[in-house]
Amino acid sequence: MGKLENKVAVITGGNSGIGLSSAKRFAAEGAHVYITGRRKEVLDKASAEIGANVTAIQGDVTASEDLDHLFDVVRTQHGRIDILFANAGIGQLEPLGHITDAAFDLTFAVNVKGTVFTVQKALPLLKDGASIILTGSTTGIKGTPAFSIYSASKAAIRNLARSWALDLQGTGIRVNVLSPGATDTPGLQGVAEAAGRTTMYDALLAQTPAGRIAEPADVASVALFLASDDSAVMTGSEVFADGGMAQV
Ligand code: NDP
Repeated sequence: MGKLENKVAVITGGNSGIGLSSAKRFAAEGAHVYITGRRKEVLDKASAEIGANVTAIQGDVTASEDLDHLFDVVRTQHGRIDILFANAGIGQLEPLGHITDAAFDLTFAVNVKGTVFTVQKALPLLKDGASIILTGSTTGIKGTPAFSIYSASKAAIRNLARSWALDLQGTGIRVNVLSPGATDTPGLQGVAEAAGRTTMYDALLAQTPAGRIAEPADVASVALFLASDDSAVMTGSEVFADGGMAQV
């Protein structure tokens, strides 16, 4: 019997990296997993990799109508959500002097506004015992060169979870933050290509006491912990899946 037997999970940004690895893990533990993302072909590929117990729904977390469609489908097919993993996120390197209006707006639209309305629109489907996981980052508690806007967006996530744990008091719904450190995903690879891949990976490694860059599956294990009843006592908390990076 899996840890998530008969649970219904929704993972935004479930077609790549940490989201995809978590979707595989949740499905293997018995959950039916809804994965979302904007890129249809990447969603289809992810869906095929996961195999059974998966529904892929194309959508953008910044588009209200896409979120409505997602939760309409889940409501019709399952009537509830046990695990909501608000994982979709983006970031790009921009030193202070080069921050653009467009990059600021997009980063906050996806990482903060997308998270707020994903959770708000899912709320009617979340019942006693449900687990909400928000995706933070070690950058949310540290200064990070050329990554201030992304880092600020992830700092906001910590406070959302703390405040929502209070808003949700008495409902039996819990909300926690999963904060990865450097994790070898297509997302990080994209940022690293722009910065000079070897230089950036070396710098990240130097800030990681565990001595290796995490794999998506490392973070998915922690997501499973937060999704399952193993973490039933936790709400308003932040868990770092970061090889110790937050300490450096
Ligand atoms: P990936 O780029 O591999 O995955 C990001 C996912 O988010 C993709 O599925 C992407 O799908 C989706 N996404 C992006 N924008 C949107 C949008 N507007 N609407 C819907 N989906 C969207 O990155 P990671 O797996 O690395 O990142 C996952 C999360 O982990 C992010 O929140 C990231 O900030 C966080 N994180 C990652 C770290 C790392 O080192 N990798 C470290 C700390 C935190 P599509 O493009 O098809 O829309």
